[in-house]
Amino acid sequence: MIKNNHYPFVLQPLAYAYDALEPFIDTKTMHLHHDKHLVTYINNLNATLKEYPEYQNWTLEQLIYYSSLLPCSIRQTVINNAGGVYNHTLFFDSLSPNKSLHQRMPTGGLMRSIQLDYGTFDVFKAEFKKQALAVFGSGYTWLGASANGKTHIVNTANQDTILPDNLQPLMLIDVWEHAYYLKNYNVRADYIDAWFNVVDYSKADASFALIAPEFRH
Ligand code: MN
Repeated sequence: MIKNNHYPFVLQPLAYAYDALEPFIDTKTMHLHHDKHLVTYINNLNATLKEYPEYQNWTLEQLIYYSSLLPCSIRQTVINNAGGVYNHTLFFDSLSPNKSLHQRMPTGGLMRSIQLDYGTFDVFKAEFKKQALAVFGSGYTWLGASANGKTHIVNTANQDTILPDNLQPLMLIDVWEHAYYLKNYNVRADYIDAWFNVVDYSKADASFALIAPEFRH
């Protein structure tokens, strides 16, 4: 997901052009979100770890999952900024301008799991949107899976992740206002609807297959 997955963390370019998600997510938001917001989290995380060489070989996931082992002087700063890097990387990686139909809905094991848990894909989407609308303040709505392949829609605040919940992240929507305010102003529902047009489920399918290759076949 991120090439240099330890200190010093390095910004990776988007896999698509800044304007590739138009008209659903606007070019200016993509520039600011990737080149300013994500970069700030990367810089803050590197600055925090600079004086702590014993943690410089930890992966992003380890920094988040084992944050209770970090000195309390840097623990919350690492949680905030490692989470900011992790969440934004997953967010940008989960988007694609490709209009291929199979990328606009899950396939294989993930689709079967969603159908078992929600009945139909449309019911799942409605529930995901409902949860994304319910995030109070800044945070994310995730699709995650437990080790037995059950899917979970989970909301988190700030830059928290679902890794400490022992859930495999499959995809997430960023509902911080900086993710949509320039285009959608305060209307988060419009942004969520637009996001459904550019989320690429093939990435979620691949992540799901890693944890539950035989699940519910
Ligand atoms: Mn963001």
